[in-house]
Formats: sequence, structure tokens, C-alpha cells
Amino acid sequence: MSDDNDKMGEGAEERTFQTEVQQLLQILIHSLYTHSEVFLRELISNASDALDKVHFRSLTDRDITDPDASLEIEIEVNKSSKTLTIRDTGIGMTREEVNENIGTIAHSGSAEFLKEIAQLKDEDESKKLQLIGQFGVGFYAVFMIAERVVVNTRSADDDAEAVQWESTGAGTYNISKTDKSDRGTEIKIYVRSDCEEYLDAHRLEDIIKRHSGFVAYPIKVAGKQANDTAAIWTRLRTEITDAQYEEFFTHLTGDPDKPMAYEHIVVDVPIQFYSIIYIPKQAPMNFLFNPEPKVSLNLYVRRVFIQDDCKELLPLYLRFVRGTVDCDDLPLNVSRETLQHNPVMAKIRNTLVRRILGMLEDIMKNRPDEYEKFWKAYGMVLKEGMAMDFENKDKVASLLRFPSSLSDNVEDTISLQEYVDRMQSEQEEIFYLTGENAEAVAQSPLLEAFRERSIEVLYLGDPVDEWVVNALQEFDNKKLKAIDDEDLDLGDNKVKLEGVEENRERTIELIDFLKKELTEQVSDVKESTRLTGSPCVLVTPKGGMGRNMERLMQAADREFAPTKRLLEINPSHAIIRNMGEILTRNRDSEELKEWAHLLVDYVLIGEGTVSDPQKVTRTLSKVLSSATELRVKEL
Ligand code: ADP
Repeated sequence: MSDDNDKMGEGAEERTFQTEVQQLLQILIHSLYTHSEVFLRELISNASDALDKVHFRSLTDRDITDPDASLEIEIEVNKSSKTLTIRDTGIGMTREEVNENIGTIAHSGSAEFLKEIAQLKDEDESKKLQLIGQFGVGFYAVFMIAERVVVNTRSADDDAEAVQWESTGAGTYNISKTDKSDRGTEIKIYVRSDCEEYLDAHRLEDIIKRHSGFVAYPIKVAGKQANDTAAIWTRLRTEITDAQYEEFFTHLTGDPDKPMAYEHIVVDVPIQFYSIIYIPKQAPMNFLFNPEPKVSLNLYVRRVFIQDDCKELLPLYLRFVRGTVDCDDLPLNVSRETLQHNPVMAKIRNTLVRRILGMLEDIMKNRPDEYEKFWKAYGMVLKEGMAMDFENKDKVASLLRFPSSLSDNVEDTISLQEYVDRMQSEQEEIFYLTGENAEAVAQSPLLEAFRERSIEVLYLGDPVDEWVVNALQEFDNKKLKAIDDEDLDLGDNKVKLEGVEENRERTIELIDFLKKELTEQVSDVKESTRLTGSPCVLVTPKGGMGRNMERLMQAADREFAPTKRLLEINPSHAIIRNMGEILTRNRDSEELKEWAHLLVDYVLIGEGTVSDPQKVTRTLSKVLSSATELRVKEL
């Protein structure tokens, strides 16, 4: 907190909003007009969460303020004072919690979010709304309609002091003691003159029906209940419309878009549980690179909310799934610790995994275009399942997609099954090549021999791909084979290398020379049978680790020393031929030594992994100087 926050009498102080909050408030106040009604959904959703928390706590703790208060949300309008008040009997907040929750933004991606949203044009309201929904601006949405907001809150902790928070949304807020005696939070909104529609009870009821139809506690507007509190997942599937499933999705996630797919699961034996699960079209902000990935399913026991983000419900590689699980066969007082080893949880989890993989299979088969979008959004995460879920490995494998050498566009992907189905008749292995990224893999000279024979090669350009091939080993009884393995054998039809036989000795001498010169760089030097148009290539020696695997190891352990690779040279290539020729005439050529090193760097540049680009440019500059000089002499 900043030091210039003035103390104003006993317990009262003025504080400055965190910079990010100020930026967010600017956006909310000045650029979202037509969707201002979502403020109500946000406040009701917060109230509902606060009720969930106190409900759960009261199951085991009776020493809280008002342990028997009825759990509900009350909304009151006063047309003469132009105020709208939203009151809940939830968990409330202490002074520290108020400062922490409504004064700062805890989200890790807030800076990115603000940048992204600031770039959108004024007309792009629906996109803004979507971002806001995913990010969850929550409470701050109130400033879309408020001139001033006063929050009075009292925590359920029985010794807590009630606090008042007040702000106009312009840079600062005031916080002070207050004498609220009952538990919960009351938000009084002084409604802006251009938003007086929100002082109409019918309008509010209408918004609640559309946006908050799934709140499990009564929401009373002017004394009358405006919602149906029966949990949607306990209702018969035939009585729920698509629109209602979609609304529930928005209620859960804040995402105004429709989900890509959903499933309503009702299981009676061996255990009884209900669940509605969704696959959102769009991944939340920061999803792929979130350093603290989490499972986003809520757990209920007999309609009582137990916890959100329940990690026991799903393996992490399915974390793109959102939804709710409600089980009748767990005790209400389950703690996080006992959940971990609970056999009921394990059964629910198995069922969910099976159903989700089934949903994906169905999308892949019947809605291939959608599956492509799914793969772009979540493929990297699903791949983790190869290493994490041994039991379902084959199912996950059948859902994977990779770019391949048969397409010029690395955005096009195929499944392993498609690969196997179009393999050549004598081909026995599934060929692949890993690398820095699919674009770099597609440029590899190692593909030459395969292109020539029209043999398809899969491009594995993600860092996790190395785990994928390690875990998989084979698919449909076909072994996976890296094409940069030393012992790669393409069978009888090896490429005929013209003019090689007569210059055999020259090649052997050059290999000898390169071995000596490059001992630091490579494990060995050999003649290649897989190259046609390129001078050389680096391959993984027998039993060696793939390059990507080494990168993963290096990332985990700085001390890790990568194994040297083997240099294969193409004796029919002009560069190699000429180097051999020079060697026979001058065994001590300094230039030749430099070129030897350049050969290795040449391969590394192609892979995008050259370690000393300065050294390479120095050598290249010499090479170019002499080449241009020669050309000038010829003219
Ligand atoms: P979010 O709900 O996404 O966490 P908000 O800005 O809406 O973000 O709220 C921030 C936090 O403030 C909530 O996580 C909660 O801890 C607290 N909060 C907001 N409204 C209430 C309320 N009515 N009762 C208790 N706590 C609340």
C-alpha cells in the first residue's frame, strides 16, 4: 500500500486504487455502455459465492456470527434517493479482505488483459464483453452504472469489526469503521442519472431471469423471489433447453459465447452423482502458459457447494473442461485432505475422464472443423495426457494431431490413424521428426530422402512432443521412428548417390579430417545415405536422446550436458566434393578448418539452434569475401 494514504481520524483512511484497478475503472466507465446490465450478474455472483462459503463453513463451525441466518440475496430500490441496494448474508469481509479484494486486482494476467482490451475499438463491445467475462472484472463492473458506491460488510469471524468502503471510482476509496451488526455484505449504489432504468424492479427481475437463473439461493427483488433455486443438474435432461444449458455455461464461466460442446451426466450406480461439463470454444486468458494450472470444476455434495477448482475431479491435462459435479455419496463435512484419498472421488474422476474423451472423439469424427479449433486452443494441454494418464494413453493418442510432410501448410494436421491408413504398403514404421517448431522441422534436410520416396513424416514441433513419443512408442502396432536416428533404415531402396564410388578415397580422407577437426562438436562423422540436395545433417547416435528431450532436460537442470550428435555428409554435394578436393591438395588449409566448423553451424542455423551466431557471421564474411574476389577475377 502506498505511504501517501492519509489517515483520517480513528480507523478511517483514504487509499489509492492499485494502478491496474484505475485503468480498469476507466475502461468500464468510459467504453461499455450497452452491456451495463451485466453489473448485476457480477454482484449477484459475488453474493452467491459469499453464501456458498459461509454455508460450507457453518457445517463444521458454529462459532460464527449469525450461524442460523437464512441464506439469501435481497435487492431493494429507492427511487427518491436513486439508490439500488444488494444485500447478502454471506461470509462478509474483514478490513484486510476489503483492501485486498476491492482495491487491487489479484489476477496474474491483468496487465496483458488491460493492454488487450485497450487496443479494441469502441464498436467492439461484444469482444470487450467476452474478455471481461473471461477475466472476471467482477465487483468493479458496478462503476458502469454508479456515481458512488458504499459497501458495508461484516465478516462471519465472530470477533470481526464491521467496515465501510466508499468510492466514486475516481482514483481513491475511503475505508472506515461502521456499526453493521449482522453478518454479510450490503452494496449501496448511487445510480447515475443515465442509468435510472436500474431503479425499476421489473427490469431487475428480467435481468436476473436472464443472467442469474442458476443461483442456488433466493434472490428477492422488493420482497418477491425472482429466481428458481432448483439446481439445473438435478433436473431431467428432456426438460432443459439448449439455451438453458448455454446460459448455465455463461453463469459458470462469464463467457458470453456458446460452449463448443457439453454433456449432462447422471449416474446412479455404483455411486450417485450429477454433472454438467462444458468445453468452451475459447481458452481463458493465459491458459496455455499459466504457471499454476488448475482444474476448473466445482464440487457440490447434495446441492451444498463444497469447493471450486476441485483438483481431485479431473487430471490436469483435461483442465480446459469447465463445469459442476454434485455427489450424493460423499459426507457433507469432507475436507480437502480426505478428498484426495476418497474412493468415491476416484470413481467420479474415472467416469468424467471417459466421458470427456468420448466427447472429444465424437467432435473429431462428426465435426472435424470444430475439432480443428479445439486442437488449436487446447492441443498442447491434451498432449500432456500421454505422459500423465497411462490408462487412457491409447485413447488420448487417437485424439492427437500433427502437421505432416505431405502438406505444404504446417497449420494442416492429421491424426495418427490417418497417417497409418495412408502409409505405403511396405512401410512398417510411423516416421516423425522433432524440432524447435513445425516450421523449422519442415525445412530439415533429413526430409529429402523421404520426400523422394513420397513417404510421409510427422512434424513434432512442440516441446511436449518428446514426452508424447516416449510414452507412446507405437500406435496401431506400428513403431514410431525418429528420422534423425543414426540407425534409420529405409530398406532396399536407398538413394543412389552418383559419382560417389570413384571418389571413395577422397571421401574417406575428408571424413577423417572432419572427425579430428570437429571432436568438440560431434560424436562421429559418416557418409550419409539419406541426403540428396543438402551437404550434411546432424543425427542422433544410437541410444541417444532426441534433441527436444535434451532441451527439456536442460531447462530442468542447468548442469545437464547434451550428448554430441553425429555428422552425416553427402559426398555427392558440391561443397563436400570440393572440400575433399582441397584436402587432397593442401592438408593444412586453415580455410578448410573454418569451413568444417561452418558445416555444423549451417545445420544448427537450419534447426534454429545455433549457439554462437557472431562466430558464424565472422566465418561467413570471410567466405563471402573470397567468393566475391574470385568472381571479380573471373570477370
Ligand atoms: P472475483 O469475484 O472474480 O474474485 P471480484 O472483483 O468480483 O472478483 O471480487 C473480488 C473479491 O471480493 C471476491 O473474490 C471476494 O473475496 C470479495 N467479495 C466481493 N463481493 C463480496 C461479497 N458480496 N461478500 C463477500 N466477499 C465479496
